[in-house]
Amino acid sequence: MRALVVRSGQPMALEDVPLPQRDGECLIRVKMAGICGTDLQILQGYAEFSGIPGHEFVGVVESAPAKDAHWIGKRVVGEINIGCGACEWCAAGVKEHCIDRAVVGIRHHEGAFAEFLTLPAVNLHAVPDAVDDEAAVFVEPVAAACRIFEQMEVARSSQIAIVGDGRMGLLVAQVVRTATQNVTVFGRHNSKLAVARTLGLATANTPDRESRRFDIVIDVTGRPEGLTRALELVRPRGTVVMKSTFHGEAPIASWPIVVDEVTLVGSRCGPFAPALELLASRAIHVKPLISRIAPLEDHESAFAEARHALKILLAP
Ligand SMILES: [Zn+2]
Ligand SMILES: [Zn+2]
Repeated sequence: MRALVVRSGQPMALEDVPLPQRDGECLIRVKMAGICGTDLQILQGYAEFSGIPGHEFVGVVESAPAKDAHWIGKRVVGEINIGCGACEWCAAGVKEHCIDRAVVGIRHHEGAFAEFLTLPAVNLHAVPDAVDDEAAVFVEPVAAACRIFEQMEVARSSQIAIVGDGRMGLLVAQVVRTATQNVTVFGRHNSKLAVARTLGLATANTPDRESRRFDIVIDVTGRPEGLTRALELVRPRGTVVMKSTFHGEAPIASWPIVVDEVTLVGSRCGPFAPALELLASRAIHVKPLISRIAPLEDHESAFAEARHALKILLAP
């Protein structure tokens, strides 16, 4: 099959590789895969990954172990963490914190920038007809946004700021808007803020003295300076949600966190079922976020564009 392959220290390349095969896992033909900030970070050395990246996808199950044969032919999306099945975290159903976990396209498991990938059936979710491929490929990042609801209460009166006007910012903003109408997207890209406004979201460029009023501030910049921006917006005793994973360190002055008694919350992967429901109910609009759908052959221009565009999808 054809796949994009990263090897440490080398640029990503389109290669002919054997079909992936893993005991107990289903083989899935990839229909569409999304490029996200984490993939761009992986190309910079984040997670020291080598192999086939890509963890946002929709596909069709081609073959499965006998006990999972009912999945064959189903259109699916997949949770990306694969637990060891033996540790306390796995026993508690929290495979995203299993110390021996593999993560699709990020850690010890081949990803979705290929014609096929494998996943255990337990990771799969059938996609309802109301969610087409171009929407289904967004389930993983929408689920990550839904994780916020598991971590804190978002009240109808909550004032929320999103720091970052990129693809993740515009998804997170739409997800939290299902809980409160008071959502403002802060960003520096006029074209992306314009997309936010077409989605009905309030936008702002830079924080001013009046800005330090938000109960919850969510950093989705994917950049080291995002946390500093978030701390400029949060009210005393408010909460900053950290959604940016990047290669390197964030330089921040820590004293304002202490003086203002700010709660910092790290936030990663989230539940797929509510994400699929939000997409099926059209509460989240993804079409305005799609900048381009490219074949694997165009990976160089697709990844270059993904650095400044909204969502780039790959269709193998
Ligand atoms: Zn991602
Ligand atoms: Zn485990």
